[in-house]
Amino acid sequence: MQAQLDQLRAQQMYRRRRVLDAAQGREVQLGGRRLLNFCSNDYLGLAADGRVRAAFKAGIDRWGAGSGASHLVCGHMTVHHELEDALAEFTQRPRALLFSSGYAANVGTINALTGLGDHVFEDRLNHASLLDGGWLSRAQFHWFRHRDTAHLAGKLAAAEGGRKLVVTDGTFSMDGDLCALSELVPAAAEHGAWLMVDDAHGLGVHGRQGCGVVDPETFGGADVPVLVGTLGKAFGTAGAFVAGEEALIETLIQRARNYIYTTALPPAVAAATITSLQIVIKEEWRREHLAELVTRFRAGATELGLTLMESATPIQPVVLGEAGEAVAASTALEDRGLLVGAIRPPTVPKGTSRLRVTFTATHTEEDVDRLLSGLAIAVGNGNAQS
Ligand SMILES: *Cc1c(COP(=O)(O)O)cnc(C)c1O
Repeated sequence: MQAQLDQLRAQQMYRRRRVLDAAQGREVQLGGRRLLNFCSNDYLGLAADGRVRAAFKAGIDRWGAGSGASHLVCGHMTVHHELEDALAEFTQRPRALLFSSGYAANVGTINALTGLGDHVFEDRLNHASLLDGGWLSRAQFHWFRHRDTAHLAGKLAAAEGGRKLVVTDGTFSMDGDLCALSELVPAAAEHGAWLMVDDAHGLGVHGRQGCGVVDPETFGGADVPVLVGTLGKAFGTAGAFVAGEEALIETLIQRARNYIYTTALPPAVAAATITSLQIVIKEEWRREHLAELVTRFRAGATELGLTLMESATPIQPVVLGEAGEAVAASTALEDRGLLVGAIRPPTVPKGTSRLRVTFTATHTEEDVDRLLSGLAIAVGNGNAQS
């Protein structure tokens, strides 16, 4: 083990955990220093929101600290059920099912729906939990090139027998771009495949009332039969859900091992999430402000000669290339009081190590300007790619 660890260090691939000494937010406290934070997924700034905290505390007083059992034994409480109903209404699907994490929801769902003799098709930039779900299912695993629906269609046409499940991120977690939903829906339908969209980074962040990539007025349950959302990002709490038809949800309750064999989410988390969902729906200004921050950042970064990716979301990667370059830039920013994550393989493909800048609705325009000044120094004379 030690030799392997040493090798990771030599390759600039060693990962370490930072220990924050205060709540998540626009600023974080690290080793006694306050840093402007550009690496959380708390896009709407709800993780430390006073109303969400209050709902969490009230939830503890009413329901206790832990759920005490799995959902199928005796851990399923009224408040879990209320949140499921609220999420079903939010996504305009007949039902929703809570999972303890997005990772569990994805692995559990893909494995409940497919197995030996079936086919799973995944965008090559899908989140690790979707890839792991596909690999574990024992279905035949097919890649398709990022957002390349023609490539997918060819593979769908060639696959014989069994069920077909097409799986994609809604908003890609490391690139910030959106799946080609209006192409994926007809491609899946034409080949009799189910479409599963995991919009962990889109829900709450964009679309009408924060509906994300899958606007239910355009794409109903027949178009996107399996919709996954996570609650630890824009919703500011923890957990995840799958939304869809009655038969899908009942199938997951019967067959998703990551649902059946795990302790139900603490009920107070569900209580807090009911409050944060109401805020997500109501407070349009958070999404509007985020969009303004993104526009300001992109204009400023372009002026600096930085090459950005095609992203209109609060995920704004600055690709640098080698792992060492990303780590050095991240360290230089941290020296200037700016926290920006360096993302390296295997999270992203080799040669595309990057700074992954994220914004939250609690950032100000001055915060964006401070980040741009830091980048001007940390990334030097740009990252222009041929
Ligand atoms: C973060 C993420 C997950 C995992 O969700 P957790 O609740 O953090 O386990 C799943 N899918 C995508 C696309 C994600 O970005």
